[in-house]
Amino acid sequence: MQSAVAGAVASSPAAAPSSSKMIGIQVGAVSFVDEGVPKVLDIFQESAYINTLFVATFTYGRGIAGRQIPGQPLPDHGKQEYDADTFKGGSYTKIHPQYYKDTVIKDFRAPDFGDYDVLEAVLPEARKRGIKTICWFEDVWSANVPNVSQAQEKRFDGSNATTLCFNNPNYRNWLLATVEDYARSYEIDGIMWGSERQGAFANALGASHGGNGGGVARTTCFCQFCEAKAKSRGIDPARARAGFQALGEFVAARKRPIDGYYVTMWRLLLRYPELLAWEMLWTDSLRETYAAIYSKVKSIKPSLGVGWHIWHNNSFSPIYRAEQDLSELHKYSDFLKMVMYHNCGGERMASYIRSVGQNIYGDVPSQELLDFHYRVMDYKNEKPLADIPKTGLSADYVYREAKRAREALNGTKTLLWPGIDIDIPTSAANSKSTPDGTHDAVAAALRAGADGVLLSRKYSEIKLANLRGAGAAIKAAGLA
Ligand SMILES: [Zn+2]
Repeated sequence: MQSAVAGAVASSPAAAPSSSKMIGIQVGAVSFVDEGVPKVLDIFQESAYINTLFVATFTYGRGIAGRQIPGQPLPDHGKQEYDADTFKGGSYTKIHPQYYKDTVIKDFRAPDFGDYDVLEAVLPEARKRGIKTICWFEDVWSANVPNVSQAQEKRFDGSNATTLCFNNPNYRNWLLATVEDYARSYEIDGIMWGSERQGAFANALGASHGGNGGGVARTTCFCQFCEAKAKSRGIDPARARAGFQALGEFVAARKRPIDGYYVTMWRLLLRYPELLAWEMLWTDSLRETYAAIYSKVKSIKPSLGVGWHIWHNNSFSPIYRAEQDLSELHKYSDFLKMVMYHNCGGERMASYIRSVGQNIYGDVPSQELLDFHYRVMDYKNEKPLADIPKTGLSADYVYREAKRAREALNGTKTLLWPGIDIDIPTSAANSKSTPDGTHDAVAAALRAGADGVLLSRKYSEIKLANLRGAGAAIKAAGLA
C-alpha cells in the first residue's frame, strides 16, 4: 500500500510535462531577475505549456537579451522601464577559466547583474518541474571585449570588423571552450548556437533583409587565416580580391550597365569564379564550426542535444537558402531551429527586395521581383509588396517552410523546431503580433509535422495575450 502512495506522489502534477513535442521559449536573464524564476515558469507553463527553456547565456546583442528595445512598447509584464543604461551583454553565466586556456578571449562576463549566474538561478526550479533547459548563445560581439581584436574578421578594405572569424583559432577555441564550460559546469539538456551572417559575395550584394543595397568595403573575411585556408583549397586570394574589387564597382555604381544589371552580374561571376569560391569558403567554415562544436559536446556528454538557430534570411534569399543545405547540416545537428517569423517577415522580405533590387535585379520592377521570389521560394498566398510590411507574411508561409524543412530532414536524426515570431519589434506603422496570428502560425508549424515550436525571440518583449495565443494552438494540437 505504501508503495502505491509513493507512486502517486511521484507522478504528481509537478512532474514531467506530457507533451511529446518540444514546446520552447527563448528567455534572457533579465526576465528572471525582474520577475523571479517561479513566476516566469508559472506563466510559461500556464500560458503556453512550455517544456523547454532556451536561456540566453551569452550575447552582446539585444535580440535575445535585455528588456524591450528602447522605443518599442513595453510588454504587460516585467519591470516597466527600459534598460538602455544598464544593458551591457556578455556571459550571463560564470566563466570557469580552466576551459579558456587556448584563446585570448577570457574576459567576457556580462556585468549587468553582478555575480548572478542565470543557469544556477533557473536550473533547480526548472528541473523540479520537469522543464528542460538549453543554453542558447549567439555570434554577436562587442568591440570592447579585451583582446577581441585578435579574433576579429578583416574587411575587404583591411580594417577590422566587429564580427569574429571562424577560421581564427582564438574564436574557434573560444566557441569550443564555451560549450565545454556549459556541458561540464551545469546539468543542462542541450546547447543551441546561432550565427546570423553570410559570406562576402552575398554580403556584397546586400542579399539579406537590412542589406541596404550591399557594398564591398566592409564585407568579410579577408584575414590571414581565411587566405591560408583559401590557398589550401586551391583558391588564389589575389584573384578573389580582383573579383571583389570589380564587384564593388558594380554594386557602388547604382547605374544601369550597358548590358543591364543581371547580365553584368553573370559576366562578373564567369570572369571571377573566386567570388563564389570565397562565399563557399565562408559557408564551409561555418559548417566546420558547427561540426567542431557538435563533436566537442558529444565527447563530453553524448546525451546533450546540440543544434543551431538558422537565420531568417533563409526565408528571403535563394543564395542563403542554397547554403542551408539540410542534407549536409543534419550530420552535426540534433535539432534545427529554423526561423519562420511570419509577422516581422513581411517587413523583412520587403527590405530584402529593396536591397537586391539595387544591383543584381536592378532591371526588374520590385513587385515582379517579389513575385519571382514567391515563385522560387515556393510561397503561394502572400500579399503584394506594398502590403506585406503592414500585414506580415501568412501562416501558410510558416506551413510551407516547416513542411519543406521537415521533408528535407526525413530519414535523418535531426528534429525540426520552427522559430515562431511573438512580438519581434517592427516599425511603428507595420504589422504587430496578435493572439490569432500567433495561434495560426503555431498551428501551421505543427500541422506541417514540425517536431516542436520555439517561441521567439525573448520573453521580455512578448505580450502575454500573444503567448496565450500560442498556447491555444498547442492545446488544440493535443500537446497540453
Ligand atoms: Zn577570416
